[in-house]
Amino acid sequence: MNGPSAERWRYTETYLSEVFGVEDEAATAIRAAAESAGLPPIAISSDVGRFLTLVTRLVGTRRALEIGTLAGYSALHIARGLETGGSLITLEADSKHAALARRNLEAAGVADRVRVEAGSALDTLPVIAEELGAASVDLVFMDAQKTEYMRYWRLVRPMLRAGGLLIADNVLGTGRWWIDDVEDPERIAVDEFNRALAADPGLEVAGLLVRQGILMASVLG
Ligand code: SAH
Ligand code: MG
Repeated sequence: MNGPSAERWRYTETYLSEVFGVEDEAATAIRAAAESAGLPPIAISSDVGRFLTLVTRLVGTRRALEIGTLAGYSALHIARGLETGGSLITLEADSKHAALARRNLEAAGVADRVRVEAGSALDTLPVIAEELGAASVDLVFMDAQKTEYMRYWRLVRPMLRAGGLLIADNVLGTGRWWIDDVEDPERIAVDEFNRALAADPGLEVAGLLVRQGILMASVLG
């Protein structure tokens, strides 16, 4: 077999989170609150959280959009990378998740910068697009229903400015499927999404083996 063994892969993931993913109290508290509420452990890992903060900062993000809030763990990390005066709108279909995320983000001290919008992103994105206008968003983090990625992208694309960045999570797998599995509807949808974006001449695209795979796409000017 090429590449790392399962054992080496597990060690590598643990190493990444121990060395690069040291959490402060606010981040740990969100993870704990999600667990107490019985939510599945599907938030990004702590090392990916730090990566999100870094990338948000690198892009010079004043306006960020997230699709799929869960308990607010990734939202906290995006909020931390925003420019002064910048803001994040995060979209969450489940009103219980949205309510918990609001409480968590308040407790983490970033509620002034983050707005949690309840409702399916398929319904709320067109409204947000009206509100914000074209080419007004610097960064989008996509992490909701995997079979809907292409539909989110069509709604989000006009909102991204030239040089703006899309980050999509789980482009190689989730806890349930991996990209080499066959006949899984989510895998098939994500594969189509990956190939469509990679072939788009209006984008600079990279697919990265970060945890369960992330896609980064920068809009060409
Ligand atoms: N980004 C979060 C994890 C998100 S888990 C983190 O890393 O911390 C995926 C979330 O997307 C779930 O809370 C689910 O309820 C939500 N979701 C699923 N379909 C959605 C849709 N159509 N619109 C908005 N949110 C959706
Ligand atoms: Mg994810």
